[in-house]
Amino acid sequence: MTEQPEPGESQPRKRVLFLFSDTGGGHRSATEAMIEALDLEFPGRFDTTMVDFFRKYYPSPLRFAPEIYPPISRVPQAWRFTFRASDGRNRSRAVTQISYPYVRRGAQRLVRENPTDLIVSVHPLVNTHLMRAMRKSPRPYITVVTDLVSTHALWFDRRADLVVVATDEAREKAIEYGIAEGNLRVIGLPVAERFNHPLDDRMAWRERMGWRTDLPVILLVGGGDGMGPLKRVAKAINEAALAATLVVICGRNADLRADLERVDWTMPAHIYGFTSEMPQFMAASDMLVTKAGPGTISEAFISGLPLVLYSRLPGQEDGNISYVEKLRAGVWAPRPREVVDALRGWVDDPVARERAAEASRRAAKPDAARRIARLIADQVGVDS
Ligand code: UDP
Repeated sequence: MTEQPEPGESQPRKRVLFLFSDTGGGHRSATEAMIEALDLEFPGRFDTTMVDFFRKYYPSPLRFAPEIYPPISRVPQAWRFTFRASDGRNRSRAVTQISYPYVRRGAQRLVRENPTDLIVSVHPLVNTHLMRAMRKSPRPYITVVTDLVSTHALWFDRRADLVVVATDEAREKAIEYGIAEGNLRVIGLPVAERFNHPLDDRMAWRERMGWRTDLPVILLVGGGDGMGPLKRVAKAINEAALAATLVVICGRNADLRADLERVDWTMPAHIYGFTSEMPQFMAASDMLVTKAGPGTISEAFISGLPLVLYSRLPGQEDGNISYVEKLRAGVWAPRPREVVDALRGWVDDPVARERAAEASRRAAKPDAARRIARLIADQVGVDS
């Protein structure tokens, strides 16, 4: 007896190239979430490749962008200046004009070496370069904007077949920069499936991690690179000796981790480096203190965590703060003292904490990655 082929098995797999860079942790997380969603929604129908275009194809010093990002982001004035000086239709066009001759060969090699059916970009700094490199042989192109609100002009190249944004605010920006409404979708930031069902028993997980089960847990995270004044914030929480457990994730910032491991803690405290178990960490916690990173905020919404935002990348993450505050899912607390005040309010008043947690849950877009996977499939003619 001959076996029946699985649906779609006889059809050639479609090849999708994802362009990202490890400038922070958010672009990688969003890309992995979409690849996972493609596998879940359309098993066996896609071959996917992730390329860090800066590292693999761009000349020096741009190829070191992932290494340069953490130190630059620690100088807010420099970040604000760079963001503002390059934003807007004319200025972003000028940036591309000036930079293209420099990256042209790399961008053309990228296109040549990756002959895929579709390109998905999750980074603002690649779109216009790639469009120019593909001028003679354009390929289907989707931009998935991985900033929530304050979206830079370089995200929006009109030649993209589709542009996916996370919020209505970003949609307005896209239209302002010339994206046709028909090519625009408001979906949300793609987040890994594991955030949707992270733990069967959060107390059992706490026990396994050696965390106390009788105290609320404050989770402190500074993006993928442990950014912002995380050390000062951790120390202020420690000095306040709140009736809570403090869990700090330092990401790839090894110096920060070493510093915090030497602190004399007044409260139960647990310090970690980069973790691949963020869904579990969030599910087992009660409050999140974080820099205003879009990935972390979107994950916190799904995990139903109230947020204290202690820092942001000026320009780029400003809108995230007003967005979270408007939704009543959290507060902006740029000084360590304000972080402590916000946390004390939630530690002492579980009802207020639950109200903010509920607002956070309402803001969640847990199916964004799967919806984007369906858009990708639709673009290359794959149906379920
Ligand atoms: N992240 C992680 N492990 C860590 C620290 C961070 O997986 O130890 C992930 C986090 O869950 C999120 C991303 O890194 O998906 C950070 O993205 P975000 O947009 O918040 O900030 P960025 O690092 O890009 O500035």
